[in-house]
Amino acid sequence: MLYLAVYLIFMKFIFHGGAKEVGKSCIELITNGNRYLLDAGLKFKEHGFEAPFKVFDLPHIDGLFLSHAHLDHTGSLPLFEHFNLICPIYCTQQTRELTKILLKDSYKIARIKHLHPAYQKPDLKKVYAATNIVNFDKEYTAQGITFKFLNAGHIPGSAMILIKTEGKKILYTGDFKLSTTKLMTGARDSSQKYLTNGDLKDIDILISESTYGDKTLPERAPLEEHFLDRVAEVTQQGAVVIPVFSLGRAQEILIILAKRKWNVPIYFDGMCVDMTDIILKKDPSYLTGTATLRQMFRKVTLVRQEQQRQKIMNQRAIFITTSGMVQGGPVMEYIENIWGDPNNAIFLTGFQCKRTNGRTLVDEGYLYLKGWKTTVRCAVEKFDFSGHSDDAELKTFVNLLKPKIVIFQHGDEDAVNNLCTWAEQEGYRTYGPAVGHEIDL
Ligand SMILES: [Zn+2]
Repeated sequence: MLYLAVYLIFMKFIFHGGAKEVGKSCIELITNGNRYLLDAGLKFKEHGFEAPFKVFDLPHIDGLFLSHAHLDHTGSLPLFEHFNLICPIYCTQQTRELTKILLKDSYKIARIKHLHPAYQKPDLKKVYAATNIVNFDKEYTAQGITFKFLNAGHIPGSAMILIKTEGKKILYTGDFKLSTTKLMTGARDSSQKYLTNGDLKDIDILISESTYGDKTLPERAPLEEHFLDRVAEVTQQGAVVIPVFSLGRAQEILIILAKRKWNVPIYFDGMCVDMTDIILKKDPSYLTGTATLRQMFRKVTLVRQEQQRQKIMNQRAIFITTSGMVQGGPVMEYIENIWGDPNNAIFLTGFQCKRTNGRTLVDEGYLYLKGWKTTVRCAVEKFDFSGHSDDAELKTFVNLLKPKIVIFQHGDEDAVNNLCTWAEQEGYRTYGPAVGHEIDL
């Protein structure tokens, strides 16, 4: 009887990271005797980073599926080469190109900060060589399973991954946004398409992100207008520094600013320049505002050198720059220049993790500049432009699909618990695993 019970366990999920936390997303799927990974991210901490280290004890991996390029989903890829685990990596074309730049940059930053990245530069090349480009909406069969990448509406190239194995349909959402933004076709549009064409019908196991599982995001249109009004007000007397995430938010802010005429210059500085270049050159699938983005990218002044930056700083202008959580990059120099004058402003444009400069600026009005705790005198405001679904959208998505089993991950404990309580009440078989947990199905 015991043998029979063991034998009946076909499929297993092991949550190596991104479970009751945001960061180092990595789920192992064991099916048909093979071992696959869904994402392989890093979690950045104040001093160094955390990887899904248990993965590196595995004897082999048969395939790795990447939902999108953000480092909390891709950052530990070079370690796979380092630990001799390299395997076919499946991702969209945009994800491949954007990941390449992000990994190169994170290696550079690790070196600058004297953090050991635990891999060498050649590892990056081998990762790139192992990637296999997957087209959206096309079914593939490889290593014994069938899979399809569907639009996730989160950032360019982002995909939900639909896997068919052992007669079951599994949907891993990665990060997703249901509603359409100025940059991306939302998964809502595509989910209707996918519901109609049957891709999202009869899902057995849904593995959903939960980043905003306990929060409601503001409506987009009034938020954008308020943001534009505030930029216009401040630039009448001063400068606005807009910290952005280089991938997604930077491009969206450009498209939003295109709605109005500005009598001050707009500067675009940092990693967002290279990212925009790639986004405009590679596969435009599911992007909405590329024509406006292209126009704006030509119109704004790109800042590429320190000398140029020093020359342009002291003026009434709009500075769009990285990093989005004010944790390094050119944004530090701009803020150093404007923080003391109440006529200036810092407008944060996305989620700010705990213990980041962006978070302390919003919550307590200070940040660390060159190691000095600095209480700023300029205005600070946060605008919730998010590439994620909020709790209402997450619930809508679950109810659209009506899966047999729903697993919530990629969210803080409160967010995951909130969604689990709701899903159980709705009658779904629900899981909210923590790191290290295993689910046998
Ligand atoms: Zn993401």
